[in-house]
Amino acid sequence: MLARKYLFPHVIEMNYQARRRLGVNVYLIDGGSEWALVDIGYLDSVDEIIELIRTMDFNLSACKMLIATHADADHIQGMAKAREVLKAKVGAHPSSVEAMETADEIMTYATIRAQNFHIPMPKCKVDVKLNEGDEIKIGDVKLQVWHTPGHTAGQLAFKLNNLLISGDNIYKDSCVGVIDAHHGSDLPDFIDSLKRILKDDSEYLLPSHGPVFRKDPKIVQKAIDRLTQYQHMADFGTCAVDWPLLEEWEAEVVSGKMPDFSKGK
Ligand SMILES: [Zn+2]
Repeated sequence: MLARKYLFPHVIEMNYQARRRLGVNVYLIDGGSEWALVDIGYLDSVDEIIELIRTMDFNLSACKMLIATHADADHIQGMAKAREVLKAKVGAHPSSVEAMETADEIMTYATIRAQNFHIPMPKCKVDVKLNEGDEIKIGDVKLQVWHTPGHTAGQLAFKLNNLLISGDNIYKDSCVGVIDAHHGSDLPDFIDSLKRILKDDSEYLLPSHGPVFRKDPKIVQKAIDRLTQYQHMADFGTCAVDWPLLEEWEAEVVSGKMPDFSKGK
């Protein structure tokens, strides 16, 4: 039997447990009589993760749910296989269902044609729709479901006492999950989700990538400030809310005002 390495009471993270980088962070929520996984990662690592769980002496038939934080391939490519092997239910936000059930290669990020990037994306049935305010009971533990759109429309986070499993909302270096119009990113929603995290009383953030960290308002505020700027920058294309320079230019064009280079620099 393998010793369980708890990060916090009821929480094991499988990369830390395996002592190697498996991919996305995979949180095992141990409720005693039942357990659940938050994300599963790539198809390649499913067997190893399940084998680890078995050797940690968890009953494989006691998996309450396989939870998808959102429908990105790096988080859920292995979900259909895990669902089949564990005979467990898959839970996701309603906005993630179509991408998961049709294995939409754009929405799941399985294909980025311009970069010649492609990974197979198995279709995965979603058995349980997880909505804002829902509670997932896993043995003695209750996860509160937060809908935190922004990175994707279906991004979820989960509150467990003083912990927030925060998905792709924020990482330890203040970076956030990729902002991309094709995959449903929304800057105003993202800022609202970050403000909610900032206001919340959780002490630790358990993100989907990189280290688990103590919540520092400065880290979250830095991301809010950046995304607030992004809303008005051409760099973010159709994700930007507006582009003030273009509006000024249009007003000049319409009024017939020509650029004036006669004045000094
Ligand atoms: Zn991610």
